[in-house]
Amino acid sequence: EGLHRRSFSYEVYDQHFLKDYQARCDLEIRTAEAYKNYEFISFLQPKVDAHTHQIVGAEALVRWYGQDGKLVPVADFLPILNENAYIVLVDMDVFDLVCRMLDGRIKANKPVVPISFNLSKPHFYDSNLIKDYTDILDKYQIPRDLIVFELMETITLDDTAKMKEVVAQLRSAGFSCSLDDFGNGYSSFTVLLNANLDSVKLDRQFFVPNLNGDSKLIIQTVVRLIKSLGMKVIAEGVETKEHADFLDACGCDQIQGFYFYKPMPIGEFEALLDENS
Ligand code: C2E
Ligand code: MG
Ligand code: MG
Ligand code: MG
Repeated sequence: EGLHRRSFSYEVYDQHFLKDYQARCDLEIRTAEAYKNYEFISFLQPKVDAHTHQIVGAEALVRWYGQDGKLVPVADFLPILNENAYIVLVDMDVFDLVCRMLDGRIKANKPVVPISFNLSKPHFYDSNLIKDYTDILDKYQIPRDLIVFELMETITLDDTAKMKEVVAQLRSAGFSCSLDDFGNGYSSFTVLLNANLDSVKLDRQFFVPNLNGDSKLIIQTVVRLIKSLGMKVIAEGVETKEHADFLDACGCDQIQGFYFYKPMPIGEFEALLDENS
């Protein structure tokens, strides 16, 4: 009730070789039911200022509690939602839940921070993209500049023109845009030059090996490059103090990772924001 939900039909894709076709079908049916039962919810993972470690933002990440009350791994259900495009609908529920929280806090005069949302590939190519998000925002009184979209480069690997177009539309609607997973092996520097992005998120892969002279030099240079192109740098997947301190020394703006906070339920995030102020 109250949520914006489009009617929906889906196609069955069979181009993939499926090891366990039955299990896969079961999961497809279960995800559709889970959507209807509002079982997909949003967690939030705080982002901190690289220097002060104050919470300066958060990323919305979808979670699904199965019937046994356990979290279903994101990697198990997200590919299915992306293939059958249910992700478009699930993302609207995630967005609505977070907007409702922001709206409540703004009305209660409590502190808020910008929240970022991952844009799915089916939604990226959907002509209703901007309207879907602005329709929900219009139900609430939330300044557009509190909303950030994270775009993975894999979405548009060979479609820089589309990337440019979507980023321009999102920005002219008042939203910020971030390039997600930079450095995961798909990244190319043309996207940095072509899309008018506000920030870039360095992928966790930058930090997996122990920092040595070469990996430090690469991180330093990439941070400097992105910043000199006028964008903010956010490091994600930071798990150690060594990495956090090094990123701060490099001039990285924000850090997101288990070293500071794991993704958490919205209520827990609100309690943190209250403490923080
Ligand atoms: P992402 O956007 O790059 O999100 C960051 C992922 O890294 C999240 O995984 C997060 O839990 C994990 N992470 C954060 N800090 C650390 C750390 O210090 N160490 C490690 N090992 N991992 C860390 P999650 O939630 O499983 O999401 C995986 C991917 O699924 C996301 O990658 C994003 O591309 C996609 N995704 C997640 N939630 C949503 C959603 O609501 N909508 C859409 N369209 N995609 C989503
Ligand atoms: Mg992301
Ligand atoms: Mg990422
Ligand atoms: Mg990532």
